[in-house]
Amino acid sequence: MNAYDDGAGVERTFAALPPAQGRGFARTWWGRTWLTALEGTALDTRQLKAGRRLARAGAVGAVSVRPGRITAVVQDRDRTPHRADVLLQELSGERWDRFLDMAAERAGHVAALLDREMPTHLVEDAELAGVELLPGPGDLEPECGCGAWDHCAHTAALCYQVARLLDQDPFVLLLMRGRGEQALLDALHARGDASAGRSGPAEGVDAAEAYAAGDILPSLPEMPVLPPEPGIPPSFDTEAGPAAGIDASALAFLAARTAVRAHSLLAQALREGYEERAAQPEPSVALDAVRLAAGEPGRAVADRLAEGSGRGREGLAVAVRAWRHGGPAALAVLDEEWTVRGDSLARARAALESAWEEDERPVLTSRANRWTVVGAPVQLRLSRDGRWWPYRKERGRWVPAAGPAQDPATALASAQGAPEQ
Ligand SMILES: [Zn+2]
Repeated sequence: MNAYDDGAGVERTFAALPPAQGRGFARTWWGRTWLTALEGTALDTRQLKAGRRLARAGAVGAVSVRPGRITAVVQDRDRTPHRADVLLQELSGERWDRFLDMAAERAGHVAALLDREMPTHLVEDAELAGVELLPGPGDLEPECGCGAWDHCAHTAALCYQVARLLDQDPFVLLLMRGRGEQALLDALHARGDASAGRSGPAEGVDAAEAYAAGDILPSLPEMPVLPPEPGIPPSFDTEAGPAAGIDASALAFLAARTAVRAHSLLAQALREGYEERAAQPEPSVALDAVRLAAGEPGRAVADRLAEGSGRGREGLAVAVRAWRHGGPAALAVLDEEWTVRGDSLARARAALESAWEEDERPVLTSRANRWTVVGAPVQLRLSRDGRWWPYRKERGRWVPAAGPAQDPATALASAQGAPEQ
């Protein structure tokens, strides 16, 4: 998502990480394996220790990863910044071919990679095919703004930080070795298609055999655990700059909102169970503009949404208020006027009749599904599901005042409450 193709290859940038708490620095197999390899690269032990201290303390800024090179600004303990680069040999085209052949021979590897997972066996299997993914002695070449001619605390800190990046995404290792995730997956797809072509169409499996195999299949994986917070999308703060026509801040905002949405959908699925989850209608572009605007974008993104949605700045602000009171249903009440007829009208009238005592009932005038109080800037809107939505006139415009109620008197009382800030 944060990969810009600058022609020479792909660059990914990872936001700076907070200081590492607790004992473990690298939490996954990939992070730990990287650290083991790092400690075996014959980097000076003192530099490694100094680097580890800096990396743990959060002194490494955003890390940019490109084929053959990682870069970050690393701060000394006195906050002096140094640009540190570490170069790692890219795999040759021939080595990549061998690697892809190896992966393609093992169906499990391809399936996992296409699922954006990196099986831990990959390192060993690649090694057997003569391809070293992890760095060996002398493989990590330092360049640092501090002027050191060999590894210094800054380049060592950068190397340590890579362990944390690999925790987040082990594909970073393959990118350092020269292949971005997309190029790799494309190549695997191409190999899969080619081998499918060679062996002809699949012949199928006997149904009884397939059914019997169900018993020996591994059980389904555990339900995922809901992370405490939505993930933080990768940083777009990169040297390469976005391609023409890409608005980096808008893209960063979209990525962040997508993470929030994914988190809430996962939370909902875990709460309600996958089966019970009702299929949600695909949001329209108009709806989505309001949903995004409700996510508190910066001014520039908000202005684009206001223009793109055709609502204008004030109109969008009102739509966002509606959204916060009840999502798509509230937005429909804001935008749609519909004629109440037949049974719905009879029910609406009965509800209005019984909501107040005779002497307290406000005088209402009605038009379509809207009932306005005579002599007061408040209105009730009826939604098709029979709920009443309070509206209030502010600066000449009807705006949603609160969430809906089944009872018109309750709804009207919340419309008459203190204006929103
Ligand atoms: Zn340095």
